[in-house]
Amino acid sequence: ELHHIEKSYAPKRWLSRGETLRAVDGVSLSVRKGETLGIVGESGCGKSTIGQIASLMLRPTGGSVVFKGEELVPGRRSPRDSRRSRIQYVFQDPYSSLNPRFTIGRLLEEPLAIRKKGTRRERRREVLRMLSRIGLDPAYADRYPHELSGGQRQRVGIARALMPSPELLVLDEPVSALDVSVQAQILNLLKDLQAERSLTYLFISHDLNVVHYMSDRVAVMYLGRIVELAEVGELYDGPLHPYTRALVDAIPDEPGTTPREAEIIEGELPDPRQLAGGCAFRARCPFAHERCGRQPLLEEVKPGHYVACHLLEPDRD
Ligand code: SF4
Ligand code: MG
Repeated sequence: ELHHIEKSYAPKRWLSRGETLRAVDGVSLSVRKGETLGIVGESGCGKSTIGQIASLMLRPTGGSVVFKGEELVPGRRSPRDSRRSRIQYVFQDPYSSLNPRFTIGRLLEEPLAIRKKGTRRERRREVLRMLSRIGLDPAYADRYPHELSGGQRQRVGIARALMPSPELLVLDEPVSALDVSVQAQILNLLKDLQAERSLTYLFISHDLNVVHYMSDRVAVMYLGRIVELAEVGELYDGPLHPYTRALVDAIPDEPGTTPREAEIIEGELPDPRQLAGGCAFRARCPFAHERCGRQPLLEEVKPGHYVACHLLEPDRD
């Protein structure tokens, strides 16, 4: 569970008094055991920041991360801490996260060795078993990351995240760097692994087709906030927030083709500093109205369907 997460990147002294510049601005969400919660949004919307905070790699400026009823403090505990190892992060580009001087075998053994799990021989056996599970010949244990294709490296990235037997995987654009033909293989591998190991996924992507394929529920982010959250079918069939509607309308029929971000919605992303207090989407919203100068709250408009937009606010007397 993420409770009221905030993250500011710019040092306060760069901003004049009263200005706020936040990558993430009051995000609360919970991922249910065994589900895949998708987070979708344009680059810069804060979705990766959320993923890094959820996997305890980054400390939020405000708010808390709770895992199975226990508050976890990002960055505080050692990586050996068993609580931390229950949440693992898979990078978009595994190449940047894999030490190029280590063999695949050593890269996979390391998460176990750090935690002093088993003897060397037992760990080696684990590694070979994992390699064949993720669809790589065990002979790859003696190869180096540069000898692998992008898809093979992502298999290794996933395997490495699975070595400490996590319960939750945060997958940050796990297939965005891959060819379309390879994407489906990796997504199906992720689905199979989830079913076999009762894994829970927080799945982050800018690609609405990929998110649709993977997710049970989807959160849509815009400039650091969640603007809509619903069960996947409901969100794609009946999006309610003007931003989600524009995103869903722009989904290409041809799978694997992604519209350029500029084509999704007219207008540039506004300067977040000018939006303090109001709806972040109002500079691009065709329905913007005077009241949109006030920040809309994320409210449940139908069971399980949350929207942050004044157009959809329940009537109040
Ligand atoms: Fe558009 Fe106003 Fe709704 Fe924001 S709150 S999405 S500006 S109608
Ligand atoms: Mg990102």
